[in-house]
Amino acid sequence: MGFAEEKGSNVLFAKTSCFGEEHGSRQALLPKEGKEGSLENARKLELVDYDSLPKYLKHNEFILRYYRCEWPLKDAILSIFSIHNETVNVWTHLIGFFLFLSLTLYAAMMIPTVANSLYAQQPHSGVESPFSSLSNTSGFGSIFKEINTSSSQTSMPHPQFHDYFGKIFAARNGDESAAAPSGQAISRWPFFAFLCGAMFCLLTSSACHLLSCHSEHTSYVMLRLDYAGISALIVTSIFPQVYYTFACEPFYQTVYTAGITTLGVLTVLVSLIPFFETPEFRIVRSLVFVCMALSGWGPIVHKLMLFGNRPEALLTTLYEFLMNSCYGIGVVIYATRVPERWSPGKFDLIGHSHQLFHVLVIAGAYIQYLAMLVYLQWRDAEGC
Ligand SMILES: [Zn+2]
Repeated sequence: MGFAEEKGSNVLFAKTSCFGEEHGSRQALLPKEGKEGSLENARKLELVDYDSLPKYLKHNEFILRYYRCEWPLKDAILSIFSIHNETVNVWTHLIGFFLFLSLTLYAAMMIPTVANSLYAQQPHSGVESPFSSLSNTSGFGSIFKEINTSSSQTSMPHPQFHDYFGKIFAARNGDESAAAPSGQAISRWPFFAFLCGAMFCLLTSSACHLLSCHSEHTSYVMLRLDYAGISALIVTSIFPQVYYTFACEPFYQTVYTAGITTLGVLTVLVSLIPFFETPEFRIVRSLVFVCMALSGWGPIVHKLMLFGNRPEALLTTLYEFLMNSCYGIGVVIYATRVPERWSPGKFDLIGHSHQLFHVLVIAGAYIQYLAMLVYLQWRDAEGC
């Protein structure tokens, strides 16, 4: 970006390093202080080079400048509004957090109750399906139409269809359980568990990038929270997939849910080992999370074996493939540190691998959210 070198900019070139050592190549993107008493404080808040960092803050030797180093906690928090090499990392996942918070609030109000979903399947009900806008904009419109048709066809001959409108009426008066074709309300907890997992991951990641510069202890705690957040996102992504796919198979539902939960807990425990965060273990760290995500393909293959002729199963699998592709590409970029390794220093502020990784995580989580809507529509239509 080069704005630190712009003529006339309010840039202070401090010479005191993170540890109070003399060093000649510091940049601080801070307002120049007019009073001498403020100069010392400004030096504490200087942005430093990679070489000046303590070992616990050295994660990427291809990002050369604009590091915050052992800033007071208050200043670290306020640095969310200033420019440094973590600004984009903080804001990408903070914006992602608010995106998923909005989706959660929207879902709480708009995701169809069982009664609404049944309305949506009636060919002449005159009630627009909440999924209709999705089907028009997602690029999978024809598949969604097929799903709507399929759902109607499969639910129409249900033995309890004769009581269909009675169930809707009952549901509109607050008895949602009466509206499911099976006589059972389809639980929403796995869907909202996923949304909470995504929000937890994005918020802890954002906080980690903002606050880790404060101290070694803070860095240790925040990194563990970050790893726990990634684990939570992966585990809660698989919960709804398993719960709704095997809604009629409690044994497999329990086995898969217990399996992925155990893997998630083990990953968090492994991440507590100090060397887990070291740069030398970047590849191993990536592989641990990749293996956990890949474990989700066991129930996906099982789903295709049981429901391979169902458009809902095919569409959710397509979404899951796209989601895993986003995460996979993100992990490769994260582990290889492309593009900054090709031109060290050029991507310090914007465009480096971790920022790209963050964007791909949000994209993957959003694609998984779309898959959840298909699962919900599927199970609302058929119950168990
Ligand atoms: Zn991150």
